[in-house]
Amino acid sequence: TPPTAEQLLEALDPEQREVATSFGAPLCVLAGAGTGKTRAITHRIAHGVATGRMDPKHVLAVTFTAKAAAEMRSRLRDLGVPAVQARTFHSAALRQLRHFWPRVVGGPMPELMPQKYAGIGEACQRLHMSVDRAALRDIVAEVEWSRVSMLTPESYPAAAEAAQRPGVAGFDSRSISRILTQYEEVKKERGVLDFEDVLLHMVGFLTERADVAREVRSQYRHLVVDEYQDVSTLQHALLRLWLGSSDDLCVVGDAAQTIYTFAGARASFLLDFGKEFPRARTIRLERNYRSTPQIVRVANTVLDGARGRTRASRLTLVAQRPAGPPPVVEHFADDDAEAQGTAARIAELIEEGRSASDMAVLFRTNSQSEALEQALTARGIGYLVRGGDRFFDRQEVRRAMVTLRAATRVEQLEPDRAVRDVLTQLGWSPNPPEGTGALRERWDSLQALVGLADTVLARPGAGLPEVVRELEERAEAQSAPVVDGVTLASVHAAKGLEWPVVHLVGASDGLLPISMARTAMEIEEERRLFYVALTRARDLLTISWAAARTPGARGSRKPSRFLDGIIAAPAEPAGGGGATARRTGRRGATVYSECTVCGEALVSAREQRVGRHGGCPAGAGEKVRDALRTWRAQRAREQGSPPFAVLTD
Ligand code: ATP
Ligand code: MG
Repeated sequence: TPPTAEQLLEALDPEQREVATSFGAPLCVLAGAGTGKTRAITHRIAHGVATGRMDPKHVLAVTFTAKAAAEMRSRLRDLGVPAVQARTFHSAALRQLRHFWPRVVGGPMPELMPQKYAGIGEACQRLHMSVDRAALRDIVAEVEWSRVSMLTPESYPAAAEAAQRPGVAGFDSRSISRILTQYEEVKKERGVLDFEDVLLHMVGFLTERADVAREVRSQYRHLVVDEYQDVSTLQHALLRLWLGSSDDLCVVGDAAQTIYTFAGARASFLLDFGKEFPRARTIRLERNYRSTPQIVRVANTVLDGARGRTRASRLTLVAQRPAGPPPVVEHFADDDAEAQGTAARIAELIEEGRSASDMAVLFRTNSQSEALEQALTARGIGYLVRGGDRFFDRQEVRRAMVTLRAATRVEQLEPDRAVRDVLTQLGWSPNPPEGTGALRERWDSLQALVGLADTVLARPGAGLPEVVRELEERAEAQSAPVVDGVTLASVHAAKGLEWPVVHLVGASDGLLPISMARTAMEIEEERRLFYVALTRARDLLTISWAAARTPGARGSRKPSRFLDGIIAAPAEPAGGGGATARRTGRRGATVYSECTVCGEALVSAREQRVGRHGGCPAGAGEKVRDALRTWRAQRAREQGSPPFAVLTD
């Protein structure tokens, strides 16, 4: 049974309750990571529906990535409001454009171009510009930036200069402007639309056609936007047009988590919300419910080092949860050793009883995922790559979807039997095949489909059509079903999500911050990425970096500058209160440790061994025994497999 209106409010703290119940003026929620922003807005919708203030069909909840939208839909379903539209800007606009195109332009909407590379490559060719793959990638990114900033080829050069974008891949802004013009030609000739065209056309329809605007506005009367710090000029324009003269708008965001500036996001829409909507009410949330105090402290330290607007608008997080294990910073000789070490650490945690799906490994660039995939495979640990959108591209998954859809038209067997029959034809069996390799991978994805189908069928009244609909929605949202595996994800793809255990790899200067980031603004964006990564962790956070790229090479990388103040050697004197790091000769592991009971810095070797602060006031009884037990388990591990945190006297 879904929660009642009272129960929905009971699950919130007083400020969050304000978010859920405050109507009549635009609402802006400014709050740091893990403070319950997403929770507050999903409860706002559920409460609005439960009290009859909102009709679910008039609500549009918008968020930033397809995965976040899928996550929001599932949270809303848990709260008893399955019918609400929770979409990305893009998918909401696409739906509207498809609907209105025949009326406004005539005929069906043109095909969507799956990606821009070919089109922009051709534009460059026509202009006799020779570009390699890397240059093309940079040009594509610049074209996207220009279009989400709503620039024309004519207005681009001046705007690019003002935004400190002095040129791309060796081309000055005038050349980019010519590429922009030519690219429009290419699309027109082919009769296709790209990703940004969908929003741009919808903005055009809403501006020029009163009937379209009227219809859209009467459909979507209550607008809620999550992750508002990453909204672009184009998305903002669309939002204003959806809104019209209404001000039933609630936005939530954290300027310290703006990580898409390079792609045209502008935190100023969030920070200047009060100027844009003078009647707006602003609510701040400070309590962090997600992470242990130690993780919160590390996150706060990262923001302490911030500059510019990130610093000015920073919100301090106040930890609510009890202390947990100390975050660990480790360093390895090379990338391969780091991947092996991370996989070994994950294997240990699984042995200790942690579920693989409780863990995530985060990295700055997708190319870092391969070494990790190999290391996990070698240990027989399952994983899923988020944002890799591989699951729904797999042949067996595509075929399963086609066959299941066909099976809905036949509807004789019990639905769970029907699912199993279909999947058995494609290579599924109740028990996994021996060994690893392609056969096992295939079984794993089919098994994931069985699991997903069972979850859907457990809902009252659900049958095969509901299973198929869920699969289609997930395919659109690129949201692979949860398999019992470790999540591998780029930090960008991890935004808004959380895991009990998070490993951030590649925390070295050059990888995070990425070497391409040069200007102060770009470095600040990298810092925000670092902050996003750390704040995904609930209980256990490990940050690692490797000195060299390849084994045997002389390691020249340095730990990420964002670790300044987090790893500080030598240890501060007792009572100094700062975070402590120990560097040891052996294997060079660096340990950042705090009292597992009260969070105080551990200074002496003895304290570090016991995992408890010398004069810890809370240090009696069960908690200390736990700390000792953890330490013993750790020592036992260290004597067997390669140690991660070497503690010496
Ligand atoms: P992010 O900035 O990363 O998107 P967020 O502010 O959206 O974070 P949520 O994801 O909504 O935060 O919440 C973080 C975690 O804290 C979730 O597990 C959520 O269920 C929990 N949480 C939030 N508010 C409360 C509360 N009042 N009581 C208990 N748990 C809460
Ligand atoms: Mg959130």
